[in-house]
Amino acid sequence: MQGMAIRLQGLSKTYGRTEAVSGVDLEIADGEFFSMLGPSGSGKTTVLRMIAGFEAPTSGTVALAGRDVTRLAPFERDVHTVFQDYALFPHMTVEQNVAYALKVRKVPKAERRDRVREALARVRLDGFGARRPSQLSGGQRQRVALARALVGRPRVLLLDEPLGALDLKLREQMQIELKAIQREVGITFVFVTHDQEEALTMSDRLAVFQQGRIEQTGTPAEIYERPATRFVAGFVGTSNLLEGQAAEQVVGSPGTYSIRPEKIRVLKESATADEPEHSTATGTVAEVVYLGDATRFLVDLDAGGRLTALQQNLETSSEDVAAYRGARVRLLWHDRHTFRVPAPR
Ligand code: ADP
Ligand code: MG
Repeated sequence: MQGMAIRLQGLSKTYGRTEAVSGVDLEIADGEFFSMLGPSGSGKTTVLRMIAGFEAPTSGTVALAGRDVTRLAPFERDVHTVFQDYALFPHMTVEQNVAYALKVRKVPKAERRDRVREALARVRLDGFGARRPSQLSGGQRQRVALARALVGRPRVLLLDEPLGALDLKLREQMQIELKAIQREVGITFVFVTHDQEEALTMSDRLAVFQQGRIEQTGTPAEIYERPATRFVAGFVGTSNLLEGQAAEQVVGSPGTYSIRPEKIRVLKESATADEPEHSTATGTVAEVVYLGDATRFLVDLDAGGRLTALQQNLETSSEDVAAYRGARVRLLWHDRHTFRVPAPR
């Protein structure tokens, strides 16, 4: 199919009695920034390794740009993998590290020099060519790994938790840069992470993995606002579910419902509740967390269960916030934010 960078069909991988990946179907378009999100052990790396060709599937197929590559070796596939530990050659300079793959491919020296310079500029490492990896910071090493990937101009770049070793500040900075670089070069990125915020902020689309299966595929907004399963509702964003008796009382019908914390307003218990098209529930504040720009309220509902509400701190100070602990409150949200989580298959 034209415009399709990757197609996985019925992809499975079994190690002994462990089913690492079971029956994954996935299509990733040319130029997409696609993330695979899931907890540790959910099969993300195994899928990536099967796309790269480091691992043979137990069953199913891998197609790249419309060609079945299931039985091809890694070097016969137009992909490049960036590993979490960067895998740089410590005895080589930055320039030599980046040039290595071109040298192996016998690209002429002059072209090699140009392309290495271009790749280093792309990751903002101009002037660092003569250094060795040991003379670089973690973030800079990460950039060298990226330059090394870009210099070969692969059609697809596979990144396995590439920011995992960086501290939070650097990580957030690299998220923005990585996304900008992807936009500039137009290469398809498949990005593995266990960090839901990272996946939501960076991706055009993402797949949520659990126990070797894809629970849901969609845009960040689709995944966040309309989780297809209970697992997705809990793993992406704060788990905020109404179920059982609480669902019957508050929503008015049985089932499991998800309401995002930032959609819920925290009012005085005595506040009027008869706004049209709104749901309301009273309860007691069990915990209140001052976050600087916002405050998180954990409220035990009279109807049973607990909801989290997130309020922007427009006028509230940290002292005001502390006074809320144990207070009686009324929660109020628009019905369009009550999302019914489909029952398990
Ligand atoms: P993730 O990257 O999401 O953390 P992995 O793909 O690494 O998950 O692993 C998925 C499952 O497969 C885990 O239960 C893991 O222990 C198992 N697994 C992965 N690689 C191997 C292997 N080479 N041998 C045996 N089991 C493996
Ligand atoms: Mg992994």
